[in-house]
Amino acid sequence: MSEIHPARVVQIRNSWLNMLPDEKPPSRSQLYNLAPYEVGTIWCESLTGYINRLGYVLSCLTTRADFPLLTLPSWVGDLSPRWQLRETPAWCPSCLSDWQALGHRIYHPLLWMIRVVTICPRHRTPLISYCAHCQKPQLVFAPSKTQPGACTSCVHWLGKEANVPSNQEVSSELMNWQEWIWATLKELQAASLTSGMLTWEPFFRQLATYLQEQKGYSRLAQVTGIDRTVLYRWVDHDDAYRPTFETILKFCYLCQVTPLQVMNGQLDQLQQSIQAGKGLRSPLLHRQHQRVDRERCQMALLAALDDKNEPLALSQVAQRLGYEDSRQLMYHFPEECKLVTQRAKAYRQQRKAQRLAQVREQVRQAVLSIHSQGFYPSHRRLRILLPGALMRLSEAKDAWRAALQELGYEL
Ligand SMILES: [Zn+2]
Ligand SMILES: [Zn+2]
Repeated sequence: MSEIHPARVVQIRNSWLNMLPDEKPPSRSQLYNLAPYEVGTIWCESLTGYINRLGYVLSCLTTRADFPLLTLPSWVGDLSPRWQLRETPAWCPSCLSDWQALGHRIYHPLLWMIRVVTICPRHRTPLISYCAHCQKPQLVFAPSKTQPGACTSCVHWLGKEANVPSNQEVSSELMNWQEWIWATLKELQAASLTSGMLTWEPFFRQLATYLQEQKGYSRLAQVTGIDRTVLYRWVDHDDAYRPTFETILKFCYLCQVTPLQVMNGQLDQLQQSIQAGKGLRSPLLHRQHQRVDRERCQMALLAALDDKNEPLALSQVAQRLGYEDSRQLMYHFPEECKLVTQRAKAYRQQRKAQRLAQVREQVRQAVLSIHSQGFYPSHRRLRILLPGALMRLSEAKDAWRAALQELGYEL
């Protein structure tokens, strides 16, 4: 895919700007005109990373408005945002260290936030999502004194430690899948930059037409391992059943087409795959069996137990370590897992008790205040005074009755 001409990037950027609500006229700020990095390439900075970097340099708004280009819809189009972005940032320690060694800018590319990207295209090593020092995930918005590339919890450098060898081997199966994803993301980005935000309606329309003409549902189900009824739903003009970005990518990967080819009605390859009748690539739909790194798991569990903040649920600890669920951890570390679960449960109960005590006190104060103004503290008056649906809670109703009794009202 050829690089986009800078003038074209400016043009597209301007077309995005027209979609922004009521922009203030640009002021003549040079100082605050901080450019996001690598716009128009797959290394484009993420909006959250940019804001964090900005917050570190200065704590006020800039006159830059490339923001929409730093977010995923400008890249992958109008698909459901479900499961597209990670909940907490991931990063490539080698990239950070390289940039630091070369005196380059240190930033968070949007690419690292995309859930399906798990391997760094430059270093071909896994992205990581926990700090090697404190084992914690990174906050999406960093505290303002956190330097780019520093852990948002312990401020430790997130780059590669010089003396730590990387022993994370990546299977060729996973590497093939990731290489295909990088190329596909590049293709989608180039298409978005050329013609504005992508719409996915043609993808499903083309697929529907093809499948109906060729009566290809069963064969396609065979090739992709996706149930036939699910395929019917995809093309059924019903947005509620539209697959996630990740599922579409896996589907296209197994059929050896790119999403853009399907959108443009270039279905020759799809036809060939369907006619071959079975997946030409090994199905990656199942997570690969992951070897348990005992030391790292134990450290993460102990760090979770030691954490002074809100305790993590066991599933969160597992996710932070890159596991889909906590089964592996429970198998290898039953005792630690039990403690983590107990701690999280005790914390939740304590928080709930605190919240209810707050509710009771809020209601009591509201009753007293209405009474002191000479009115009867009715349910309706309380609803006006108190936030949202608070008076629907049974604890709030109990507190209301108790306060009325306290003031000598007959119930
Ligand atoms: Zn890297
Ligand atoms: Zn840390």
